[in-house]
Amino acid sequence: MNLYTAIFLVMLLATALTQWWLAARHMRYIRNHRGQVPAAFRDHIPLASHRKAADYTLAKTRLGLAEGAYGYLILLAWTLGGGLALLNGAWSQLEWSPLWTGVAVMLSLFMLSSLLDLPFSLYHTFGLEARFGFNRTDLPTFIGDMLKNGLLLLLLGTPLIAVVLWLMQASGSLWWLYVWIVWMGFTLLMLWAYPAFIAPLFNKFSPLEDNELRQRIESLLSRCGFTSNGIFVMDGSKRSGHGNAYFTGLGENKRIVFFDTLLKSLDPDEVEAVLAHELGHFKHKHVHKRLVSMALLSLAGLAALGWLIQQPAFFHGLGVNEPSLHMGLILFLLVSPLFGFFLSPLMNALSRKHEFEADAYAASQTRAGDLVQALVKLYRENASTLTPDPLYSSFYDSHPPAPLRVAQLNANTRQPA
Ligand SMILES: [Zn+2]
Repeated sequence: MNLYTAIFLVMLLATALTQWWLAARHMRYIRNHRGQVPAAFRDHIPLASHRKAADYTLAKTRLGLAEGAYGYLILLAWTLGGGLALLNGAWSQLEWSPLWTGVAVMLSLFMLSSLLDLPFSLYHTFGLEARFGFNRTDLPTFIGDMLKNGLLLLLLGTPLIAVVLWLMQASGSLWWLYVWIVWMGFTLLMLWAYPAFIAPLFNKFSPLEDNELRQRIESLLSRCGFTSNGIFVMDGSKRSGHGNAYFTGLGENKRIVFFDTLLKSLDPDEVEAVLAHELGHFKHKHVHKRLVSMALLSLAGLAALGWLIQQPAFFHGLGVNEPSLHMGLILFLLVSPLFGFFLSPLMNALSRKHEFEADAYAASQTRAGDLVQALVKLYRENASTLTPDPLYSSFYDSHPPAPLRVAQLNANTRQPA
């Protein structure tokens, strides 16, 4: 058997088995803790809410397993099943230049992939989320989102893919380094442009009107030495009942965004504490650290592709008989998540460390007790489980489980200032 086929199948199997094993542990753990609210939360979270969170988490995990299995079948169909070769053959008949054939193959692959995923995204929104009372999306919004995403893919993806393929064919053996520079530039451009130009295509952002809250936020910002390009409320309730807050953008283009759903459920003290947590991420330069680690990972990946693309066996082993630059890139994009999966616990551990740091910062700038109350409310209203399987959580969770965060915050409160 071709070496690359063997590595691919082993990684696929290892990923799938690890996911199934972790999910089985997670579901068993949640079922075993479904009957009792953890002691630290007993006064604030009723048993009924705790049970709802358990049922919601179980349903989501089950759906994730089904979607994962379906995704692996599709991956096998594209590669060993010859799907990619078929798609490539169809576009090749038009006899365009290799570069534009490559652009067409890649864009059509992305569009077909999201169509193939459509049953799951429909069920997620209108089945699962609706069943637990979170869905606010109607069909026109859902279809509108799909069309806008498709249009964005065409508008942003076409030039990006064309430049990348052109560099691959024209810039010699160090092409992967030039592609990496372009990719980094594109990432930074998107970080900068997203809040101002892309997010408003999907949601309405209006300046925060509540004067009292506004003043408190502004005084928190100046106390922490921050400037922002505005405080906005986003109509998150248009799609979902889940609440959130975020700080987005780069450089001067930073804005603070609150979901309307969050402002409805938290009181001003709690909103301030949540924002102080977000500011903590900036104070500790978490966004920059994240960007640097992503940059290093993509550099390593592209360097690996620079080598792989010269190995005909890499193509043949993954179901592609006619090696080409774009097919190499596609195979790499399809297969690399199998390797990334085993790196994700590291990235998530780093992210959880950052969450603790941001919590500590919030506790130093506002009252830790307010953040605890806000977290408890958000966990209750989002039906997030308080009792994840510890191993599952350390593998997947970008945020520490609620009991650990709350315990840490309470410890902060007790420390003398
Ligand atoms: Zn955070």
